[in-house]
Amino acid sequence: MVEELAFDNTEERRKDRQNGTGWIEVIVGSMFSGKSEELIRRLNRARIARQRVQVFKPKIDARYSIEEIASHSGRKHGSKPVTTTKEMMELIDPETQVVGIDEGQFFDSDIVAAANELAGKGKRVIIAGLDQDYTGKPFEPMPQLLSIAEFITKTHAICVKCGNTANYSQRTVESDERVEVGASDKYEARCRQCFIPHSDSPTPVE
Ligand code: ADP
Ligand code: ZN
Repeated sequence: MVEELAFDNTEERRKDRQNGTGWIEVIVGSMFSGKSEELIRRLNRARIARQRVQVFKPKIDARYSIEEIASHSGRKHGSKPVTTTKEMMELIDPETQVVGIDEGQFFDSDIVAAANELAGKGKRVIIAGLDQDYTGKPFEPMPQLLSIAEFITKTHAICVKCGNTANYSQRTVESDERVEVGASDKYEARCRQCFIPHSDSPTPVE
């Protein structure tokens, strides 16, 4: 819901920041649900508030542009591609106040301890990622990140078959790989009733 997303009182908590308090925000949902858009919105607002921001994404996601995080609607924000959590941690400037991470599901499990460590050092950590894989199984390490986050936002797409609230990423190409990077060429958003936990033919566009 728009109201929920607009209600975001975490970003300008300067008083908390002066007290040295950090926290973790996690944004999860299916593909096309607006996770990247919401992450980019929060990062832009942090920059407007003149906070020092660093953004990372896993190298595995070659979607659109390697040096940027991008939403399906075309919004973009600069980001640094990294292969491991360790590499990301080595790149974080002690002065950084806000750490943004997209495609969190493609990070190794060290990301959980790293997020806690960064928040413990007073940083605001915002992580977006898929909470389920193409079979509907929880997509680690997102469940672990949800457990340790102070703030959680669940985003939803629209089912391309029936128009209901979509919570699933339906794979539309033949592949049994858990990681099959793609966008609307390989996935579409579906609701609980229309989703099937394996590949299905794409819904024709009218
Ligand atoms: P995510 O990061 O969750 O994959 P994005 O932020 O990249 O999502 O993209 C969200 C945008 O995708 C929407 O604003 C809309 O323009 C577009 N979109 C395409 N298909 C759908 C769909 N089935 N439901 C909702 N939005 C969709
Ligand atoms: Zn449906």
